[in-house]
Amino acid sequence: MTKLRLAIIGAGPAGIYAADILLKAEREFDVSIDLFDQLPAPYGLVRYGVAPDHPRIKGIITALREVLDRGDIRIFGNVRYGTDITLDDLQKHYNAVIFATGAVHDAALGIPGIDLEGSYGAAEFVSWYDGHPDYPRTWPLDAEQVAVIGNGNVALDVARVLAKHADDLLPTEIPGNVYEGLKTSPVTDVHVFGRRGPTSVKFTPLELRELGELRDVDMILYDEDFDYDEHAREVIAGNKQVLVIDRVLQQWRQREVGQASRRLHLHFYAKPIGFVDDGEGRVGAIRYERTAPDGQGGVIGTGEIRELPVQAVYRAVGYFGSPLPGIPFDKRHGVIPNHEGQVLHTKDNTQFYGVYATGWIKRGPVGLIGHTKSDAMETVSHLINDLGNWWTPSDPSEAAIVELLRSRGVEYTNLDGWHNLDAHELALGEAEGRTRVKVVDRDEMVRVSNRPQ
Ligand SMILES: Cc1cc2nc3c(=O)[nH]c(=O)nc-3n(C[C@H](O)[C@H](O)[C@H](O)COP(=O)(O)OP(=O)(O)OC[C@H]3O[C@@H](n4cnc5c(N)ncnc54)[C@H](O)[C@@H]3O)c2cc1C
Repeated sequence: MTKLRLAIIGAGPAGIYAADILLKAEREFDVSIDLFDQLPAPYGLVRYGVAPDHPRIKGIITALREVLDRGDIRIFGNVRYGTDITLDDLQKHYNAVIFATGAVHDAALGIPGIDLEGSYGAAEFVSWYDGHPDYPRTWPLDAEQVAVIGNGNVALDVARVLAKHADDLLPTEIPGNVYEGLKTSPVTDVHVFGRRGPTSVKFTPLELRELGELRDVDMILYDEDFDYDEHAREVIAGNKQVLVIDRVLQQWRQREVGQASRRLHLHFYAKPIGFVDDGEGRVGAIRYERTAPDGQGGVIGTGEIRELPVQAVYRAVGYFGSPLPGIPFDKRHGVIPNHEGQVLHTKDNTQFYGVYATGWIKRGPVGLIGHTKSDAMETVSHLINDLGNWWTPSDPSEAAIVELLRSRGVEYTNLDGWHNLDAHELALGEAEGRTRVKVVDRDEMVRVSNRPQ
């Protein structure tokens, strides 16, 4: 029987779902899958993106873990494609590869002052508070007034973590250094800026509602943003999600405010156009233009420029994929060019045989974890049908890749290693009466994973 030796690069939800779907698919060949990730632990942004105070979503890890625990997928953690293994290696040892490398960096925002001290990307901050091993252990939380740019769920995550009292995050899995950092924050006001109106936000109702439940934080809304035009009223009447969002906002507008020590402001029709230097190279204020509805769901600038003093700005304007050595890349959209997951050469759009993409690196950084499942189905069905076009590796044995990594001195982790790390983190948590305490340092993650039991 033909055998497919498949490499999957990226052990986030997209990579794990792809492996699972392929193993369960009706097919006329055997399958052997090796799943690689640059991090010593699997689960991608579920572990390093989803906010720590969203335990229900973090719980998706349990379902992903069940897939891995079946034992029919080999995991190689702490192995980076492009450094530890290359396309040449993959072509020597596998019939095909699926890239599921996601998108981990902030999209650019080209406005004046973006490089000032105190201007941060949401992805960097998220990586810090979620304990990503490749980010600094400390975060400069010295601002009293903070701006967050963006009207999606990541902006809400960032605003919520900034506004929340550190003690209210303690029951979560935040690492010790993150708790200590947040505890020192002198923040009083977090301002979220969206250039459109309340009926055009990309928040989901559940995430929005959560803001209103924060202890000792007042929600501040501005009457000038709620003078709805005909188009906005039609959107509310015709879209259930917008209707719920509007209800939540209207309820907050009725609330008594003034007692809380922190405030979370939502500014709509406010388009950031620059950050003002405080004279010492730091952010001193955010400058924004007041916009107005154009009657068709968009906005136009009014020419009215405003400034608000802030000492830090976080831009949550989207994530962006990174290019991978030897693999085509669409620089404009930050994805691997593909047709339903079949990777295409950039120069002539023909199929790059043997190479596939799934998840955020396939279709861009939008959508929830569940969407990566349907993505994977599409990609895997093409992989199965392309049988005649797979690579013909010179050494497809399962031992070969292990020998290769060893010969290069790559200290990889495996499924047992993840079990060790998981148990260790849970034990650290138990000792402190918390669910889990994440290990942040990469070397320590590898050491704990690979220590003999
Ligand atoms: C801040 C934030 C909060 C979110 N909150 C939610 C939420 O509450 N609910 C929800 O449903 N969705 C949420 N999402 C979306 C969700 O995280 C994504 O839909 C999902 O993680 C995308 O899956 P993926 O596997 O494509 O990418 P990822 O999860 O990013 O996984 C990619 C994996 O590839 C690895 N990798 C990258 N490059 C290499 C390389 N060169 N070599 C080896 N490995 C590599 C990475 O280490 C990573 O493990 C959130 C996203 C963000 C950014």
